Amino acid sequence: MKLDPNDLLLALETGGGLNLETLLNDASEAVVFVDGDWIARYCNATFASNLGLAPNQIIGRTPFEYTPTDFKRSIFYDACYKCVVERQATSQVGFSTVLNRWLMIRAYPVRGGGLLLANDATDSVVKAYHLAQAAVRDELTGLGNKLALEQRVEEMATRMEPFTLALLGLRRFREINETHGYATGDLVLMELASRLQSATRGTEAVFRVSGDEFALVVNGPSPESTHERIRLLLTLLHPPVVIEGLRIPVSVGVGTVNSPVHGDAFGLLLKRAGLALGEAKRVASQALPVMPFRMDLELAAKHRLVLEQELRQCLDGSQFTLLLQPKVCLNTGAVVGAEALIRWVHPKRGILSPGAFLPLAREIGAMRTIDAWVLRQAISLCAQLRDFGATFPLSINLSADALGDVMLPERLIRDLATAGLPASMLEIEIPEGDLMADVQASVRTLEALANMGVRLSIDDFGTGYSSFAYLAQFPVHTLKIDRSFVIGLSGSGPSRKIVKGIVRLAHSLGLDVVAEGAEDENQLVQLQRLKCDAVQGFAVAPAMPLPQFRAFAASRPAVAGPDPFAI
Ligand code: C2E
Ligand code: CA
Ligand code: CA
Repeated sequence: MKLDPNDLLLALETGGGLNLETLLNDASEAVVFVDGDWIARYCNATFASNLGLAPNQIIGRTPFEYTPTDFKRSIFYDACYKCVVERQATSQVGFSTVLNRWLMIRAYPVRGGGLLLANDATDSVVKAYHLAQAAVRDELTGLGNKLALEQRVEEMATRMEPFTLALLGLRRFREINETHGYATGDLVLMELASRLQSATRGTEAVFRVSGDEFALVVNGPSPESTHERIRLLLTLLHPPVVIEGLRIPVSVGVGTVNSPVHGDAFGLLLKRAGLALGEAKRVASQALPVMPFRMDLELAAKHRLVLEQELRQCLDGSQFTLLLQPKVCLNTGAVVGAEALIRWVHPKRGILSPGAFLPLAREIGAMRTIDAWVLRQAISLCAQLRDFGATFPLSINLSADALGDVMLPERLIRDLATAGLPASMLEIEIPEGDLMADVQASVRTLEALANMGVRLSIDDFGTGYSSFAYLAQFPVHTLKIDRSFVIGLSGSGPSRKIVKGIVRLAHSLGLDVVAEGAEDENQLVQLQRLKCDAVQGFAVAPAMPLPQFRAFAASRPAVAGPDPFAI
């Protein structure tokens, strides 16, 4: 039976009407009535038995006599004081060292003293504790979560302690999940959490703030000292994680903010650390994994946000155009190909190069939409080129995403057939690095495309470490020597040897070689001597709209003789 204190008060104050004894008999709550001198005038059996005493050992005595000597520091003392001395009703939860339980004590000032009711609150306190713990704990790693980080940051800020908040973002964690499975991804996170956790000391703390992000809070006398410490902790993440014999390399980008210099409010600090982390992921190399926040990152982020909104609005291609850059035969000077290069004709910013918006498009997952537009547009350009008698293929660039698109070859066949074009009018350039990122998927898509008759070219060749074995495996037609080696021909470095090697390799595999980015006559002469088949670059012509391209092609010699690019 739960007691209603109003009934009790009434019984005490009127002394009749209600039978106090009966009321208290069944009560599971402990009840005691004390007078103005804290002397117990009444207690029920529960109260007495809780203290291991009989009621007559309590009645007529003060708690100083029947409870242990530390009564003055107990919750019972507080409750008595509140209602008897301060004449205030109170309801409080506290730990009783005497009972070794959590108690909820309600106390009411009554005429001549106070009425106190206590019940065991241990279960609900423990439950509340677990709930509170769960709310600030990351279930997978056992680390504090974002809420715990917020509490920590607020604590440090209240104490006005200077500290550094480092936000750690795992690079390509999605790939780990997709390649090895989510269970392995979880084990990687747990391992990294444990490495960081076991190395933190003193007030340093590590948190998991989201799927692939951890945070470190390190305090110290100066940002230099905290950064030094953070760099040291990061070295723990260098060794690959080994799971059932599988070595999984991990790489992190790190953005840092220093409080109070960069603010002391949690939201602002986390936002700024996030901006620094974004920058770290974009530019920081392995040798410099830590990117401190800078104010200009905020401006850049605003700019990116505006550009992102504008880009999303024109993904239908209404503001994109493809320019054509000719590829010419190094022996005859005839146009043997053209590369379509995208431009964003921005209404306010002018003509934007791919470097100014494709990385952003990739970040927001818009590459497939852009690739699809480029393909449709390229097919229309091909048809126009054919209509004025061109026999060379048009090359387009596709992103790595396109290689994973199993529907791509089928769509292409349909679109080419609709335009009445042979597949050999189209060449697809794929950067060597993208090709190597997922060899299995690449081979599947490339084979399907090659079987259709589409020509394939490996772009930026020499920068992506493809092995000879893979090269023989890919159904490609052309290697495009990366611009850096062509530029290198003007210097004294090893570029000449590299170009020579690539040409030999390509020819031995029966592939054509195009050199890209030739900017002067000297490079053209050298490329011709090195038996490169064709060249593309400012030394010949920049990328231009279709009408100019048409005039350029018409001004060059016609393709004659055994030309590798004639189709
Ligand atoms: P890329 O495929 O290597 O294209 C060659 C880039 O080198 C082009 O830059 C071209 O304008 C530039 N270039 C050509 N000759 C010279 C030269 O003599 N000197 C110098 N310095 N540069 C030269 P652009 O148009 O800015 O394109 C940059 C990159 O953007 C391309 O590199 C390609 O990876 C990507 N891209 C361009 N168009 C598309 C597209 O339609 N779709 C996709 N997915 N990517 C594209
Ligand atoms: Ca290209
Ligand atoms: Ca290239």
